[in-house]
Amino acid sequence: MRAVTAFLVLLTVSAVWLAAGPPAFAQKPSLKDFAAFSPKKAKLKAMQARGFIQTGLQPVYPADADCLKGTSDFASQTRSDGSRRSLKFYRGYHGGYDIPADEGTPIVAIADGTVVHKSPGRFIGGIGIILQHAPEDTGLGAWIYTEYKHLMKMPDLELGQRVKKGQEVGLNGKTGTTGGHYGSAGFPHLHLTAWYSDRPDYTTSKLFVPVDGRWMDPLALFRSETLLDSHSIRKLDKDVKKVPIPYLTPDGRSHPETSKVVWPFICEAKD
Ligand SMILES: [Zn+2]
Repeated sequence: MRAVTAFLVLLTVSAVWLAAGPPAFAQKPSLKDFAAFSPKKAKLKAMQARGFIQTGLQPVYPADADCLKGTSDFASQTRSDGSRRSLKFYRGYHGGYDIPADEGTPIVAIADGTVVHKSPGRFIGGIGIILQHAPEDTGLGAWIYTEYKHLMKMPDLELGQRVKKGQEVGLNGKTGTTGGHYGSAGFPHLHLTAWYSDRPDYTTSKLFVPVDGRWMDPLALFRSETLLDSHSIRKLDKDVKKVPIPYLTPDGRSHPETSKVVWPFICEAKD
């Protein structure tokens, strides 16, 4: 009888835990996670093992709308202007995908999600926020994280707040880009990072790291496929690596209409 009661209690606790949503842990990332995600201390082999490699994915922008375009690929060694990246961060490899835009251009959530982290902008990435997307938010079959960096100012969003696909999550800026390679003028652009994990938990002490997280090519967000692993994507045929970009127009419509994921900037329809 006592065993049955204990089992029921356990069942209730589990149900409550599940209903309350994923827990955020303030503890430090594991050494393994740290070796793959720390900007200054990551080891190349650990990064690569977690998907930090070039995939060869190529965006195909819509013919009937004008979208802001990417200029520096994920895991490339060059900046948007073709110069070599600093070896100080991620061993000289690019941790995201860069899309230049004027300062103040609205940036939108690529899918429904929850605000899980805000970076005040003391470091290289400048001001940034991170969204967590549940598997049903994107249809991509994993817990996805998207990070939007170099924002003009901290957006008026609270930790834990739900955002909708296409909702403004910040204004494009150049924070974190001035004073170094780009001088005092800086380089206004969105740096979009993407990670995924089979688990919903993450650590936020010192470094935001999804537990058992893996890097992903941000372009893989837009493929509507559950294949996210960079090593598997890299082996795909060239034709399959072309990614038609789903997007939002100013009237609030998604293209294609059923797409759960959209480009982080609104695209203007061509007349
Ligand atoms: Zn970047």
